[in-house]
Amino acid sequence: MTRAADFIPDVQRLLAERGEPAYRLDQAYKALTNSLVRDWEEVTSLPKGLRAALAAEVPASTLTLERHYRASDGTRKYLFHTHDGHAIETVMIPEKKRRTVCISTQIGCPMACTFCATGLLGIKRNLKAREIAEQVFVAARDIAPERVSNVVVMGMGEPFLNYTETLRALKVLNDPEGFGLAARSIAASTSGLVDRIRRFADEPEQFHLAISLHTPFEEQRREIMPVAARHSIPELMSAARYYVDKTRRKLFFEYTLLAGVNDQPEHAAALSKLLDHPLYHLNLLRFNWTDTGYAATSKKRAREFLAEARERGLPATLRPSRGQDIDAACGQLAAKDLRGRPVVQLT
Ligand code: SF4
Repeated sequence: MTRAADFIPDVQRLLAERGEPAYRLDQAYKALTNSLVRDWEEVTSLPKGLRAALAAEVPASTLTLERHYRASDGTRKYLFHTHDGHAIETVMIPEKKRRTVCISTQIGCPMACTFCATGLLGIKRNLKAREIAEQVFVAARDIAPERVSNVVVMGMGEPFLNYTETLRALKVLNDPEGFGLAARSIAASTSGLVDRIRRFADEPEQFHLAISLHTPFEEQRREIMPVAARHSIPELMSAARYYVDKTRRKLFFEYTLLAGVNDQPEHAAALSKLLDHPLYHLNLLRFNWTDTGYAATSKKRAREFLAEARERGLPATLRPSRGQDIDAACGQLAAKDLRGRPVVQLT
């Protein structure tokens, strides 16, 4: 299968049924991924009859934009509904010259991290590659003539539980014939599925990776992140070492500071011992409030924690909280939208 056939198999089927020439598939693929059309009527290079057939059978947009929010700091948030009526969310974060789009890969998330609003919901289903990539296309149209500079897969869901469709989407975003974003401008984030970390390291594209760590202590990690019960911290660090040895790329460890939980000096000390490779980088985030029972570490304590890590030689950054007036933290907006609907756990 070609990349286009993988990405839009339903379009390929319809073209084959109609006996259309092979190049029509490439035209349709480029229209969606490069020209970012949301309606087949915009694709005037396709014959009128074909445009009508496509519109009737396989609409150019798989997501409906339900709501669109802009925060006072320029952050934009998009709440989409899928064709089967589920809510997903996407955030665009402007930062100096960067325009980063944070996308979702699942409807809900089964990983159940205890500080995460999405994690409390369980999961409805995986998103298809088109639904994943389309979030970027909509944001890109919205901010034009500015351009999307980065994509991070850190929205709703554990992307490595939806590995095939997520990678398919990232490859289209990277494809020079498609969206054309450099692989090094694309990063996926995992809660720590070790076999998939190794598989990601083996991918030919130079995508970046972030691992959610959130505490250097085994027992506490099992409490905060139930996924840790599957993979111990030594197993996780072994996969991390495989990634940097194989790729020679920087590896980011995400760490959400939770007041009185994982923001103590002993955490900073243990982190600096654990993250013992020059390519490891600690990304500190302040918790955006969700009704999960946790509180945010104060700005003062977060800066102290950063200093404690750096003094011990650990490269670290404190990321600014963005879009708080529109609930831009992972899972918050759709979590509100999803509440009150029955939640299905995937087995
Ligand atoms: S933090 Fe990420 S992996 Fe954990 S429950 Fe939330 S969405 Fe899922």
